[in-house]
Parts: sequence; structure tokens; C-alpha cells
Amino acid sequence: MKRPKALLHVCCAPCAAGPSKSLADAGWEPVLFFHNPNIHPDSELEMRRVEVDKLAKARGFGLISDSSGKDEWERTAGVLGPGSEGGARCRACFGQRLGRAAFKAAELGIPAFTTTLTASPHKNAMMVFDAGREAALEWGAAFLEYDFKKRGGFGESARLSRELGLSRQDYCGCRFSMDRPGRKK
Ligand code: SF4
Repeated sequence: MKRPKALLHVCCAPCAAGPSKSLADAGWEPVLFFHNPNIHPDSELEMRRVEVDKLAKARGFGLISDSSGKDEWERTAGVLGPGSEGGARCRACFGQRLGRAAFKAAELGIPAFTTTLTASPHKNAMMVFDAGREAALEWGAAFLEYDFKKRGGFGESARLSRELGLSRQDYCGCRFSMDRPGRKK
């Protein structure tokens, strides 16, 4: 029987390794959606895109790469400036990326979408869900509320990404997160 598609917004390959498998195990056909206008600089964005392409090919998943949204991200999230991770800027950043994912799902007739953002222990799943629900309401695709770090998900993602040789970055993505305490420069 043909499985229903779910558009999986992917922030990076190591975070997507576990969630894409979990979605497939739950009966969905994951289609990876790489849309991250938050990421700075462009060389880092390209490195993450290449790694996501590697994951998609290794697992046989579809991949849509969408490089739009830089101006929108700056207008909604970047404008909020520096500040620690987890605040208003991050909520706006989730909103911009999940808004685009919901739009893309609706445009392609994909009934549901979700995101790898909850795979990270640095992200507040409730804040991610709030952004996902808002995007779902606006565009009419269903948002799947998976907290992918739960039930050993974080460890499983790390194991799978080691197995596939995926590069792991050491900051969240935007220019403000490059000064994360403890990050090697
Ligand atoms: S710290 Fe991460 S989630 Fe927050 S605004 Fe920057 S890239 Fe987005």
C-alpha cells in the first residue's frame, strides 16, 4: 500500500538522521525539505545542504532544497538581534521556516509536515510546536507534533549520523549563534 507523504523540514543532516527514520517507521514517506535562510555564512549553508543530500541519497528519500527567504528571515527574526538562544528571535526563526514548510506542503499536495528542530536538546519543543500549529492554520497542511529527541531519539540520531559519516556543526546556524559559549572557533 502506498504510504502518505510527510514533508520533513530539515535543519541539518545529523538532526535529520533519526527523525527521517522514525517517520518512515511510523508509516510515512518522508520528503526532506531543506529551507534554512537563517544559516550564516553561505559556505556553512552549502556544507549543510551537501550533507542533507548525502543523507537523502543514502536512505532513498526525496529532497527539496529551497534557498528562498533570506529577506523574510531578516525582517522577522534577524531584526530581533543578539540575545541568548531560546527567546523571541528563535520563535520567529522557527515561524519563518515552518511557515515555508507548510506553504510547500500545501503547494505540493503533501498532507502533513513536521520538523527536525525538536531533535536538538537546545530547542524548546513547545515553542517549535507553537510555530508549527500557527503555520498549519495558515496553510492547511497538518503539523505532526513529534518531539524527536524523546525516547532515545537524540542518541539514535547521533548513532545514525556517525554510521553515515555526516558532518556535525557546532552552532545553531544564524550569525548570532556563532558566539555560543564553549564553541571552538
Ligand atoms: S539561534 Fe538558531 S533557532 Fe535561534 S535564531 Fe539563531 S538559527 Fe534560529
